[in-house]
Amino acid sequence: MTAISETDQTSRLDDVRARIAAAARAAGRDPAAVRLLAVSKTFGAPELAALAARGQRDFGENYLQEALPKIDALAADHPGLCWHFIGPLQSNKTRDIAARFDWVHSVDRLSVAQRLSRQREGRAPLQLCLQVNVSGETSKSGVDAAQLPALALAVAALPNLRLRGLMCIPAPQGDPAAQRAPFARLRVLLQQLRDLGLDVDTLSMGMSADLEAAVAEGATIVRVGSALFGARRYADG
Ligand SMILES: *Cc1c(COP(=O)(O)O)cnc(C)c1O
Repeated sequence: MTAISETDQTSRLDDVRARIAAAARAAGRDPAAVRLLAVSKTFGAPELAALAARGQRDFGENYLQEALPKIDALAADHPGLCWHFIGPLQSNKTRDIAARFDWVHSVDRLSVAQRLSRQREGRAPLQLCLQVNVSGETSKSGVDAAQLPALALAVAALPNLRLRGLMCIPAPQGDPAAQRAPFARLRVLLQQLRDLGLDVDTLSMGMSADLEAAVAEGATIVRVGSALFGARRYADG
């Protein structure tokens, strides 16, 4: 497997940074208020290192087995990276996730939050977002909006975790106005949590195809994969 050329990677990173900055300015927002999370599923440590060398700090991983070798490989040359777990959470994976990640974006039930809380004992709090099902997505992940306040209050009360906000993966939409609707719903849900007294500040929303719509609706973290790395390299078959 040939690595992506470093020149391609740098120009893609510049393009994505420019898209975020333009979207923020168009919305009257400070571009620095939007954090870029590089989502590298199917890509390896060399591609991540090229981005880290250009100042990219936040990396998102969907699968624990794929993530651990990358985290190990980058540790020596690139200290201080921030690792975000954004994939489906299985109970038997929470121990390693609590040990190796700084953030988890995909918590959608209390039992998983309780495990992460116990397994994070003795360390700096794990930063946490609750994944919300904002558009009846087919993925079935994500808590329903109606159940969100109770879950958020319960999670916020757990030790060793810090509830930061909400995450969503809406069904893909071509048209920008349609893209904005689920992101607007997530923004309103975050405000509802603030109204309940929760100190939450994070909207993890927007990917390669819809980051402009997400930034327009207040995204503070955009999770970008293919626009940074190119098409994913799934094994044939
Ligand atoms: C793959 C993935 C992304 C990035 O998707 P792109 O369309 O490649 O930018 C973002 N968030 C999650 C949860 C993902 O699984």
